[in-house]
Amino acid sequence: MTERIRGRRGVELRKRRLAAEPLCRLCRADGVVRAAEVIDHIVPLAKGGKDIDENCRALCHEHHAEVTAKQFGRRVRQRISPDGWPA
Ligand SMILES: [Zn+2]
Repeated sequence: MTERIRGRRGVELRKRRLAAEPLCRLCRADGVVRAAEVIDHIVPLAKGGKDIDENCRALCHEHHAEVTAKQFGRRVRQRISPDGWPA
């Protein structure tokens, strides 16, 4: 799993990406102009996506919730061993 860039550097990165792409990409694909609020990773970091601009797109909250549900909706439940750690 790729480490997400956190802290002040992460905030700056998000701001820069939103400034570079201020409108929701999926709304724009439907011909709708709507401000983006979330930077989404096209390939989720949890699935090995990289935290680079090329793997990012700007989305509104609704589209972000929608794609996240699609990406993780059928996630296989992780097995937890008796000591509480992933098996
Ligand atoms: Zn949208």
